[in-house]
Amino acid sequence: MTAPTAYPHLLAPLDLGFTTLKNRVVMGSMHTGLEDGRKHFPRMAAFYAERARGGVGLMVTGGFAPNIEGWAKPFAGTLATSGAARRHKLVTEAVHAEGGKIALQILHTGRYGYQPLCVAPSRIQSPISPFTPRELSVRGIERQIAAFVRCAKLAREAGYDGVEVMGSEGYFINQFLVTHTNKRDDEWGGSYANRMRLAVEIVRRVREAVGPDFILIYRISLIDLIPDGSSWPEVLELARAVSAAGATILNTGIGWHEARVPTIATSVPRAAFTWVTRKLRDALRSEGINTPVITSNRINMPEVGEEVLARGDADMVSLARPFLADAEFVNKALQGRADEINTCIACNQACLDHTFANKLCSCLVNPRACHETELVIRIAPARKRIAVVGAGPAGLAAATTLAERGHTVSLFDSAEHIGGQFNMAKRVPGKEEFDETLRYFSRRIEVTGVKLHLGQRVSAEQLVAHKFDDVILATGVTPRDPKIPGQDHPQVLSYIDVLLHKKPVGRKVAIVGAGGIGFDMAEYLAHGTDLGYHSPSVDLAAWLREWGVVDPESTRGGVVRGQPEPAAREVLLLQRKPGKHGSTLGKTTGWIHRAALKMKNVELLSGVNYERIGSVDESLRAPTEAPGRIGLFVTYGEGRKDGQVLAVDTIVLCAGQEPLRELQAPLLAAGIKVHLIGGAHEAGELDAKRAINQGTRLAAAL
Ligand code: FAD
Ligand code: NAP
Ligand code: SF4
Repeated sequence: MTAPTAYPHLLAPLDLGFTTLKNRVVMGSMHTGLEDGRKHFPRMAAFYAERARGGVGLMVTGGFAPNIEGWAKPFAGTLATSGAARRHKLVTEAVHAEGGKIALQILHTGRYGYQPLCVAPSRIQSPISPFTPRELSVRGIERQIAAFVRCAKLAREAGYDGVEVMGSEGYFINQFLVTHTNKRDDEWGGSYANRMRLAVEIVRRVREAVGPDFILIYRISLIDLIPDGSSWPEVLELARAVSAAGATILNTGIGWHEARVPTIATSVPRAAFTWVTRKLRDALRSEGINTPVITSNRINMPEVGEEVLARGDADMVSLARPFLADAEFVNKALQGRADEINTCIACNQACLDHTFANKLCSCLVNPRACHETELVIRIAPARKRIAVVGAGPAGLAAATTLAERGHTVSLFDSAEHIGGQFNMAKRVPGKEEFDETLRYFSRRIEVTGVKLHLGQRVSAEQLVAHKFDDVILATGVTPRDPKIPGQDHPQVLSYIDVLLHKKPVGRKVAIVGAGGIGFDMAEYLAHGTDLGYHSPSVDLAAWLREWGVVDPESTRGGVVRGQPEPAAREVLLLQRKPGKHGSTLGKTTGWIHRAALKMKNVELLSGVNYERIGSVDESLRAPTEAPGRIGLFVTYGEGRKDGQVLAVDTIVLCAGQEPLRELQAPLLAAGIKVHLIGGAHEAGELDAKRAINQGTRLAAAL
């Protein structure tokens, strides 16, 4: 076994005195939705058991409220009675049977509660909930502390190895810490000693109640990323105090939920915030405080975690979404199979976006996440010969799942590389992670024994001649033709011309269509990725500057006005529908894309009618000072008013997509069993989440 030497820091055990964690990897708390219903407990047990089997050192559950005032939403998962604790035994016993350890997160959301019973230090509504919290009386505060203590005792009764007290991300405890949300003038507000009293009392009394041999993690906000956030001396004072009050481990939180700085999206550089944990750890160590410190945010591969720990930034790393993407993350690292890890690409599309839509969480690259009991990949009862046409996300998921089940699979693609549209997505600044999915599938093709045929545009005759038992068409999409008169002009390009064939684009560009691809195109061109400007997502200093993240020692909350690089070119992003751009983008990432375009002064035009395209001349009544430019003649609204010529160097068409399924009819005519997945099945609202899910589910059933 060579792997342990590849990640010696990551895989080293951690002795906590009364118990030992087998490695330095924590699966951080994630709200999956499984917490919020009794009926989900068997699924939740299967979910955590699979991850325990995968070798992770310690897991933290999604948040459970200690009482109804702490609910994230009405009837959110709560641990407040012995009856509830008994139900949790299903989870703890399943985890322990796999040799794992698990702590329950106690989450009181305070004013972030999306429910009318929410409470807070002061009656100040948060920007992310429509409910104004009730200001707690002193007795009310005591009741909240007692609820934390009861919840921790019940967690112990339920068999958990510990609890995590959620003190960061702008939740209840965090709301007491800063004057932004705490305007009290009693012993729970005013001076910092008063504001941090709640955190310290909760830790002290929980420790008293659970005894010394129970893991107590306190999640501390290191950099609030909001104006009037905690100062660095305050963070240190709190860290000292909760350590002294009985915290076994300090986990670190980055940014309040209401912060306008992205903290976990794919455009955030890997391990972007571990330097802040390092500051804390160094300060504590210099005072002889040895409480282990966990760092987190955008650590998604073992080598990243190893580097962070080897540098001394932290004692442990917390990865959350990477465990949705791959339950076996740690075992694969341990066994020298890190190249087989299904990497979390930080898209949020099937996890956080689902949570915000009140749907069960899953994972774009691993549709089995949170569906372990229902989407089971079994060895096929009879071995079939199956052709998969198209090696985009849908075809890759189908082919490798089929081969894993024992079928003989031939995978064809007309391109020279696997990946389909992901080969374009990965070129967009901030989407570099998409390349990891292609690395994962390349390796999985090798491991499962799929026969890969690249550079082969297969015809129906070829497929019929090979007498496959089943043919899966995963041929994807073709760009929609927007039928704008004059669009055959050489200065009009498609997104494929720009992203894949790298055709040159001028200094002023109009993008037709503001869907997901139009937004990506605007970022790509405004950043000047094609001109050689590197993405801030792979340059931490540039990214921090762009979003205004600074050392929290220099500024309260660690955030100032951002200083983005100037745009590489002038970009206009056009859509036909009236109103705001980006309404179809992800709930948790749309605002980031909009902010990124604003930083680059991208001009957003809506309600546009595309009348015609032509050379900039008299007939288009365009400005004469722009020789060589092409004119896009537009009008606005239903009345086709305010005619205007947009004189630009290049027009890029991103007007959506249509399914490509030319092989279906001839195959059906030849009596072949044909299945359509991904874009070939339906192009409207297609994304990789649907493509991979459909491919995996079909393959699990064939
Ligand atoms: P495709 O990826 O289109 O793959 C189809 C494959 O079939 C191609 O490789 C093609 O060469 C091959 N093929 C077609 N006909 C034949 C034939 N006759 N013989 C052999 N091979 C053939 N989705 C997201 O979820 N999140 C994102 O952030 C995101 N960003 C994107 C950014 C960009 C710039 C682009 C272009 C797309 C993005 N997408 C994103 C969309 C996502 O990539 C697609 O939804 C997904 O790729 C669809 O998968 P698919 O397998 O159905 O089809
Ligand atoms: P899309 O999101 O459906 O957007 C197509 C755009 O073209 C829309 O702005 C649409 O709005 C416009 N349009 C439609 N018909 C048109 C016509 N006849 N003439 C001119 N404009 C027209 O599709 P996409 O941008 O091609 O993206 C493809 C898929 O990839 C999407 O479904 C998306 O989910 C996925 N994707 C996702 C992400 C992500 O970050 N999650 C990123 C990229 C791609 P108007 O009609 O208002 O102009
Ligand atoms: Fe990661 Fe995207 Fe999966 Fe969420 S959905 S776990 S962000 S890959």
